[in-house]
Amino acid sequence: MSVSTVKTPIPLCDLRAQLAPIRGEIQAAIDAVLDSQAFIMGPHVAEFEKQAAAYCQCAHAVGCSSGSDALLLALMAMGIGPGDEVITSPFTFFATAGAVSRLGAKTIFVDIEPAGFNIDPGRLESAITARTRAIIPVHLFGQIADMDPILEVGRRRGVPVLEDAAQAIGSEYDGRRAGSMGIAGTLSFFPSKNLGGIGDGGMVVTNDAALAEKMRVLRVHGAKTKYIHTVVGGNFRLDTLQAAVLSVKLRYLDRWNAARRGHADTYRKLISASPIAANVVVPTELPRRYHIYNQFIVRSAIRDRVLEVFKSRGIGTAVYYPVGLHMQECFKDLGYRQGDFPETEKACLQTCALPMFPELTETQQADVVEALTAALK
Ligand SMILES: *Cc1c(COP(=O)(O)O)cnc(C)c1O
Repeated sequence: MSVSTVKTPIPLCDLRAQLAPIRGEIQAAIDAVLDSQAFIMGPHVAEFEKQAAAYCQCAHAVGCSSGSDALLLALMAMGIGPGDEVITSPFTFFATAGAVSRLGAKTIFVDIEPAGFNIDPGRLESAITARTRAIIPVHLFGQIADMDPILEVGRRRGVPVLEDAAQAIGSEYDGRRAGSMGIAGTLSFFPSKNLGGIGDGGMVVTNDAALAEKMRVLRVHGAKTKYIHTVVGGNFRLDTLQAAVLSVKLRYLDRWNAARRGHADTYRKLISASPIAANVVVPTELPRRYHIYNQFIVRSAIRDRVLEVFKSRGIGTAVYYPVGLHMQECFKDLGYRQGDFPETEKACLQTCALPMFPELTETQQADVVEALTAALK
């Protein structure tokens, strides 16, 4: 038996590499919160909200407990409830449609366009009914959905557009930042997002002052004045500790996003020079977009072979997402069937993620593409 050289594993996302150069600053932020012994709301949260709003080109930001709760909070403030329909993509993380169900409303799915994996604006209008109360485009993998036609349909039919920007903070469409184009945008600070906390966190950004005020009240059990409850909300607060850490990390976000874009270019060059170039589809940068590569997604007819080879070589990969939301057991009451969303179903079978994080090295990228080549040749 031949002994092959064992290489150091390459993770899908290396958060240790991100921490190392900024550890001192993060530790100082944590210590400041510890010293204050004020863990709920306070100036760290207000300061981070101000910074994040400005970063997202929005007038207001409401920090909250997670990206999932950000969707819930925004939909609550928009008054979504039983009898309402909300349109979104079946090719997204569960939370997008989960928030709709949690409010007793009905999710209507619209298939994706295969190049960008986002909701297909051409199929949107026929899904709108008299009950439609919101459209939620998801800016999947870090690239913004085709917002102009989506906003146009929304305007014409009187339906607000809520952006699920959990994977897209800092991404742009004609210079407009993710979250700034619709009635509001939701963000997630889950550790593996481009701006990740040291735990859960989320935010809603908006230019609508009245909506922001509603969300601030809903976030603290509907009490604008303590113990005086005008509406039923929840505990959707952003931890002070997370806000302090995220303020530090936000200063690096543009550099990190630029580094991810550089790695995407490198992957494209390495793959196009490989003998398997014709057997794999690399991410398309659509016109007018600034893609921030939360994930670098490739497509292949023999995707499962890629998963096997990567596993055997210690290279991180994942399938986002293996099952369309229309086929999830918990949504069977919605009445969808296999075959209803062919582009989503194809993407579920054909795509997987390559390692992508700002500190990825050229050597690591070469090893990844070598493994991809071995899998697809
Ligand atoms: C991560 C994510 C969410 C949920 O965010 P959490 O902070 O994990 O609750 C929602 N939508 C999309 C598209 C996501 O990727």
